[in-house]
Amino acid sequence: MTIRPILIHPDPRLKKVADPVTEITDDLRRAADDMLETMYDAPGVGLAGPQIGLMKRILVMDCSKDPEGSRNPMVLMNPEITWASDELNTYEEGCLSIPEQYAEVTRPAQVEVRWLGLDGQLHEQRFDGLWATCVQHEIDHLNGKLFIDYLSPLKRQLITRRMIKLKREMARA
Ligand SMILES: [Zn+2]
Repeated sequence: MTIRPILIHPDPRLKKVADPVTEITDDLRRAADDMLETMYDAPGVGLAGPQIGLMKRILVMDCSKDPEGSRNPMVLMNPEITWASDELNTYEEGCLSIPEQYAEVTRPAQVEVRWLGLDGQLHEQRFDGLWATCVQHEIDHLNGKLFIDYLSPLKRQLITRRMIKLKREMARA
């Protein structure tokens, strides 16, 4: 497994709609393993294909946050939200592509998601709590949407300017 570089906002690939997965190839399995490794290393609770420049509808997540280290890695391909609760939940979100910036985002508290698994089967499951927030945040990535798109233009511009500065510093280092 390889830790892949994570794209930092602003990057045109983070604004693009990713393509559906049509075939579960060895390359894609390897990419899923790499994405999980990259996510755990960061550390983060979710990562979507476009964040490593893979423009496919694939995401990984693990929100178990178990201090004892028991992991619950999930790989979702072509995920679709089939139901969302009226009840809303507000979480302070962050993103591996927007390091060290956090803001409150309100989303449905529960969602049902259908997806293609690495086993080639369709799965459907209801998510709540942090899992619900995470899966919605990662599906947004597959549609070229970032959590800062939910914020006011002013706040978004402020964060974007910080990221441009950070990228300049990283390029110099
Ligand atoms: Zn993100």
